[in-house]
Amino acid sequence: MNARSNEFDLPAAADRVRTLLAREGAVLVAHYYVDAALQELAEQTGGCVGDSLEMARFGRDHPARTLAVAGVRFMGETAKILSPDKRILMPDLEATCSLDLGCPAADFAAWCDAHPDRTVVVYANTSAAVKARADWVVTSSIALDLIAALHARGEKILWAPDRHLGAYVQRQTGADMLLWQGACVVHDEFKGVELELMRAEHPQARVLAHPESPEPVLAQADVVGSTTQLIDAARRLDTDTLIVATDQGILHKMRAQAPGKTFLAAPTAGDSATCKSCAHCPWMAMNALSSLADALEHGRNEILLDPALGLRAKRPIDRMLDFAERRKRRVQASGDLARDGALYARVGPA
Ligand code: SF4
Repeated sequence: MNARSNEFDLPAAADRVRTLLAREGAVLVAHYYVDAALQELAEQTGGCVGDSLEMARFGRDHPARTLAVAGVRFMGETAKILSPDKRILMPDLEATCSLDLGCPAADFAAWCDAHPDRTVVVYANTSAAVKARADWVVTSSIALDLIAALHARGEKILWAPDRHLGAYVQRQTGADMLLWQGACVVHDEFKGVELELMRAEHPQARVLAHPESPEPVLAQADVVGSTTQLIDAARRLDTDTLIVATDQGILHKMRAQAPGKTFLAAPTAGDSATCKSCAHCPWMAMNALSSLADALEHGRNEILLDPALGLRAKRPIDRMLDFAERRKRRVQASGDLARDGALYARVGPA
């Protein structure tokens, strides 16, 4: 059995999904945090493994009429919002996210009503109803650039739901931001003091951290970025040892992209704890080959969305995708040097 998989006959389960994807004319879109077997299958079958921004773009642009989304519920909803005419199936509709759960639409709407002078920016990890109330949706790969652009235009921001990512963006850009107090149950657990001890044990190691982590962790990071940016940094940084402060699912891709390097999971607890690094999302862990096969075989676990709500939620997502496209064209126009500059602008204390 795979170290993180709960499936006993992986090759047979993978074959079953492969056959059903072909039968249903479906493509598999998977997040970096799901089981390695699902990530590999997505790549082997012409699908995509990526962060939530890449998943959204890939699903929208792919010609398949059925998207099988391995991730958490807001990712399936985002796929449906962007592709309302496609069928979106997920391994488990109960796979959610603490950020989504911690930002109920009615409470969020009341908060927005209380601050009508602010531009509303929400993280992708939210329900369709919360997105429908926003001016902009962002992912962690684009939050910094977008808020910097809004700040430069003199806009004041209402930010939800992740307080650590919001505070990080606020520190980096100096923008005027009011923050919803949500947190990711995985990243919120990383401990700054324990990380200091680990760095003392491995003085040559560099630290990669996702900005959903608390400030004492980000302050020690050599690179702060989205999952894709951290994988890129793992490959590019000139060091043998990397300490990684994000969900351990990412290590599969990092090891593949940077073979020969040593990856240490950042600590979520001290030596006396039963588990020193337990950073794995319980909802991402609900994604399994067997439940994906069942969903494909029987058309189960389909994401259904009120079309009017989907249309309202699509507008701020489209704005993000347009912004990301314009940024990509600017970076490409200025060559690799500019791209590296953008990535490593975040090197050093965050
Ligand atoms: S890792 Fe955190 S942010 Fe990502 S889905 Fe799980 S709870 Fe949500």
